[in-house]
This record gives sequence, structure tokens and C-alpha cells, in this order.
Amino acid sequence: MKKWSLYIGSYAGIKVFIHWTFWIIIGWIFLMHYNLGHGLTEGLWGILFILALFGCVVLHEFGHALTAKRYHIKTRDITIYPIGGIASLEAMPEKPKQELWVALAGPAVNVVIAAILLIYLQYTGKVPDLTSLTAEDSNAHMFNLSFGFNLFAANLILGVFNLIPAFPMDGGRVLRALLALTMNRSKATRIAATVGQFLAIGFVFFGFFYNFWLVFIGLFIYLGAGSEAAYESTKSALSRYTAKDVLMKQFTCLLPEETLEKVVQLLLNGQEKEFVVAENDKLLGVLTRIELIKGLSEYGKASTVSNVMRKDCIVLHPDMPLHEVYQKLMANSCAVAPVLDNGGLIGIVDKENIDEFLLIERALKRIDGA
Ligand SMILES: [Zn+2]
Repeated sequence: MKKWSLYIGSYAGIKVFIHWTFWIIIGWIFLMHYNLGHGLTEGLWGILFILALFGCVVLHEFGHALTAKRYHIKTRDITIYPIGGIASLEAMPEKPKQELWVALAGPAVNVVIAAILLIYLQYTGKVPDLTSLTAEDSNAHMFNLSFGFNLFAANLILGVFNLIPAFPMDGGRVLRALLALTMNRSKATRIAATVGQFLAIGFVFFGFFYNFWLVFIGLFIYLGAGSEAAYESTKSALSRYTAKDVLMKQFTCLLPEETLEKVVQLLLNGQEKEFVVAENDKLLGVLTRIELIKGLSEYGKASTVSNVMRKDCIVLHPDMPLHEVYQKLMANSCAVAPVLDNGGLIGIVDKENIDEFLLIERALKRIDGA
């Protein structure tokens, strides 16, 4: 289960959660109706609309997740936040064509929903006369428009907004994927990130004059574009190495029968924060700080390592590419992972160690290049 999130159901093995901050939006909508002097019914309709809208956001995320599934990429979960949904894919497809389809599938869902709603509205004669809308008092008009029309408009906006060609929007991935068809991925990422950041600066600039919301959107895009570019450059730097290159052969190996008191001593006396548990070169598990603290509070310091260690820890192969190693460590929130060769424990990989390795690698390259 996820912390601070409400589980609402699952489809195709993908669990859907609502983050607690989402309820702030619900409260805010209700207050807004109240302040406009609306009654309880309008307030409830407003909330119903938000729920319907976020239902569409969930479908958008399933668009990404189910397309990724076709390429054998799993999705850990889908979580709904006030700013939208996030489908946590375990990896992004490497092939440009696959990334293109996965990125397009989300906005496509909203366009399809909008099209269906438009057909329905036209069939039932409920398409409002937009020329009667005036800029002033547009809030009041908005509430007078039908539920269906508002949902149609919102889906159209969702589809279009997400196609803005800037990270972290889907459009940024679409642009990167299109560029990657003709050049290598890290160059494509750099160009896509630069385009996104230019757009973001444009948003901020226009926002100051026209609409302050654009300033926020611009900043959001600017930061997103930067972090995606940083992530990609880290990844391409890592992919040139394997687990063997950062293997640590000197590390403290815990025995299953050792007490937690001893581990606490090790933790306080040294640099190591997480430990591998093994006996006669045979891996038994990993003891992270979380398990150690949980074990201490539940069983006391006389309890043994085997009692509290994590047995289903990730196991690495010496030839595994370093970016995969990094992804695995991040996905399982581990700081260290054992490396096995032919079933025997040959060393460990430490996340902090990889970070340092990267820093050194970058520094050396900079000297080489100068
Ligand atoms: Zn999306």
C-alpha cells in the first residue's frame, strides 16, 4: 500500500490510488460554490464534475499504462494528485517508436472522450451557443453550461495541454521520440529539453502580462525539462558501465545469528548504512535501516539479524548495465544490493558509490575534453 493514498481499485493488475492532497481540491470547489452564493446542490454538482474529470485523468493514465504493457513494460501504480495523474511505469521504452505510442496514448484517450461527448451533445441538441458568452461574468456562465459540455471542454484542454512539446508533458516525450528517430537518444533529449525550456520562458513572460497561471505552468515546465535532461545524461553516462565497474569487495557481511545490538554498533562506528546477510558466501538477505529500526522497536536489540532481514532483496549480476542497476536500486528504495556470480556472493553495489563514480567520471571527461 502507498502512504497517504487511498486505494480505489485496480484494472489489468494496475492499482489506482488517490493522494490525500486531492481532497483539498474537493474542499476548494465546494468553498468556491459557497462563496459564489450557490446552494448545496450546485456544490455537489461541482464535486461530481471534478470526480468525472479525474475519472478521465485516470483513463488518460491507463492509456499510457496499457500501451506500455503491450511493450512488456509494467506499471507499478497510478496515483491521482490535484495537478493530475501519474502512472509509474517501471521503465520508459527505449525504442523511439514505442515511446511515441506510449506518450501519445494518454492525450489520445482525452481526445476520444471529447469526441464521444461532442457527438452526444450534438445528438441531444445540447451544444451551447458560445457566442452568447461574454468575458465578464464568465464564471457564472460556466456554471450555466451543461455538465456534458464542460466535461467535453475539459477533455479537449487536457488533450491539448498535455501535447505541449515540453517535458514533463507528454508532448515533450512525443518530440523526443520523433527526434530520436533520426539521431541518438541523448541528443534528442537535449534538443527536446531546450525546446521545452524556451517554451517555458515564453509562458512565464506572457504570464506576467496576461495570466498569472501561465507563470506557474512555465516554471513547472522549466524545472521538468531540466530534470529530464539531467536524468537522461546520467543514464547515458551510466550505460557505458556495468555492475562489475563499481563492485565493492570490502564490505561488512552480517551473519544471520548476530544481534541487532551489534548492527547498531556497526552503523554508529562506520560508513555503512545497509548490510548484506550471508553465510559461507551464500546470500541470505539484506538488512536496510528501515528493517533495523522496525526490528529494534518490535523485538528489541537482543533479536537476531535473520529475524528482521529482508529476504526478497534485489540481486544483481556483474554484467548488468549500470543504468539498470541504478533503476533497480531506485525502484526498490535500496542503498545497497548484493552481486552474485554463479550463485556466489562476489561483492556489493552501493548507490552512493555509483553517484561518486559518476562525479569522477564526469570530472575526468571534462579534463580530457579541455
Ligand atoms: Zn499523460
